[in-house]
Amino acid sequence: MLLEGKKLLVTGVLMDSSIAFHVARLAQEQGAEVVLTSFGRTMKITSTIAKRLPQTPPVVELDVSNSEDLDALAERVREHVPHLDGVVHSIGFAPQGAFNFMEAGWEDVSTAVQISAFSLQALAKASLPLMGPGGSIVGLTFDARYAWPVYDWMGVAKAAFEATNRYLARDLGPQGIRCNLVSAGPIRTTAAKSIPGFERFEEEWESRAPLGWDINDPVGAAKACVALLSDWFPATSGEIVHVDGGFHAMGV
Ligand code: NAD
Repeated sequence: MLLEGKKLLVTGVLMDSSIAFHVARLAQEQGAEVVLTSFGRTMKITSTIAKRLPQTPPVVELDVSNSEDLDALAERVREHVPHLDGVVHSIGFAPQGAFNFMEAGWEDVSTAVQISAFSLQALAKASLPLMGPGGSIVGLTFDARYAWPVYDWMGVAKAAFEATNRYLARDLGPQGIRCNLVSAGPIRTTAAKSIPGFERFEEEWESRAPLGWDINDPVGAAKACVALLSDWFPATSGEIVHVDGGFHAMGV
């Protein structure tokens, strides 16, 4: 099995549509022991959804914008597992105002950047006391090289997120820890549905991706996360793996 004996922290399980739910499911099927995080009033939902996984994992509290949660993370995780071999960042949020590029104010933009980009550094730093050589950090992005319809300041936050991944690869590489992202095509999750006009991506993707694309299928993205968490990418860091049906490689 690909993740035999590995201990993983998986953030971002909200519903069973969440990409992170499928990462957790496949990771368990591949032999990993999983701890989930959730926060505030979503703790209850995550705990209910967690029962649908092959083994019900513990859920620890982590709001990535809360410094007390970040400071306590290693201790909270250590109650369940002695160390971590991998961490999955599957967190994104932007206030509605951030989806209007020319009208957005700094308050909305700064929230998007803090929760969707800076949080990768915050999560990595908080997990570091539990990690060692061979460790792997994996996050999820939406190709930030382009200006998209409707994505607006979330797109800018994702560009910062992708840069954060490269700087983390630089600073954690000497400790033998890899940092990589999966750039997924559009998948119908709670986060995606909160973006006004997200359907525009969905139609375009299905027709332009050479492999085709199913917006209801998060398994391809989840499998890539599992592969990057495994020992089968031992010399890869600072990378972005596209799981988008080949869309990113096409011109028109
Ligand atoms: P989702 O709504 O299921 O997951 C988003 C998660 O972020 C939720 O679990 C939510 O609780 C968590 N979150 C939000 N604010 C948080 C905070 N302050 N602290 C901790 N957690 C917080 O949606 P998803 O599509 O599975 O999103 C997961 C990741 O995948 C995100 O980074 C998203 O940008 C990325 N992604 C999604 C798509 C897509 O089309 N769905 C495409 C590419 C990348």
